Amino acid sequence: MTDRYAVFGHPIAHSKSPQIHAAFARQTGQDMRYEAILAPLDGFADSVAAFVAAGGCGANVTVPFKQEAFRLANRLSPRAQHAGAVNTLAFDAGGTVGDNTDGAGLVADLTRNLNCALTGKRILLLGAGGAARGVIEPLLDQQPMELVVANRTVSRAQELAALFGRGVRACSFDATDTSFDVVINATAASLAGDLPPLSPRVFTAGTLAYDMMYGGDTPFLDFARTHGARTADGLGMLVEQAAEAFHLWRGVRPDTAPVIAALRQDGLKGENLAASPLRGQRT
Ligand code: NDP
Repeated sequence: MTDRYAVFGHPIAHSKSPQIHAAFARQTGQDMRYEAILAPLDGFADSVAAFVAAGGCGANVTVPFKQEAFRLANRLSPRAQHAGAVNTLAFDAGGTVGDNTDGAGLVADLTRNLNCALTGKRILLLGAGGAARGVIEPLLDQQPMELVVANRTVSRAQELAALFGRGVRACSFDATDTSFDVVINATAASLAGDLPPLSPRVFTAGTLAYDMMYGGDTPFLDFARTHGARTADGLGMLVEQAAEAFHLWRGVRPDTAPVIAALRQDGLKGENLAASPLRGQRT
């Protein structure tokens, strides 16, 4: 029988996950089906329960249900515990396992696809919301020289620094005026077409500026490029976090490069992502 998987979100129509997992399944010869399910805002747990009752084997979870998925799982991976959120569920006889593959997806995109080793590097992470929290531990595991979290509301960055320890520093945007090797935008500013008020001095010719949002240029990427940095959007992270979930469910690792290339060429064409409320969302 064909195994069933799904992504739950609200809204969900723009999700790229069904395309990505269908490509992975074709590539690896897995007998599986993957669909997008619009869960009612007050009915996430019921939707998941109905899916499991119908034979669902696993699921991805996107906005706004990642915290609810965290509470729903009866076993959590260490990386889900650190992230405080779940984007991947696996259903088995013991119940529901919750995992978080976003940080691994970001690190894979940076280190493998963009050839940017993080060990010994100075990293500036912009934002202190759910997306930032989810990537801190996997970034620290790469043993950077320094990880600084800058946020509009400084107290939220300080909370994250205290939560993770391991030398993480917190500051405001205007306190960041030295250069970094990697600057990651995990704020929601790009969604609104805004630029976090950054000093151009954070960028040098050797800096990689990475916006977690995908689907084209953002004010952050424009600004970074103008000040000499090389830039990348978050499409690779989207595909890599999906590959990590696929590996968890199926035990095989798909080749992400052709899927990223296909999405860049065709998958994002014809969509007015700039006008879409889902522009830049990961799953
Ligand atoms: P949250 O709402 O949890 O956090 C938003 C963050 O952005 C906060 O740090 C907030 O600062 C900051 N922010 C919002 N607007 C501005 C602005 N105009 N200028 C500067 N800072 C701003 O959102 P998420 O963390 O879930 O999402 C953030 C980004 O990550 C989005 O662009 C989204 O595309 C992407 N994303 C990534 C996901 C992933 O799985 N990797 C999942 C979902 C989104 P403050 O604390 O001061 O309010």
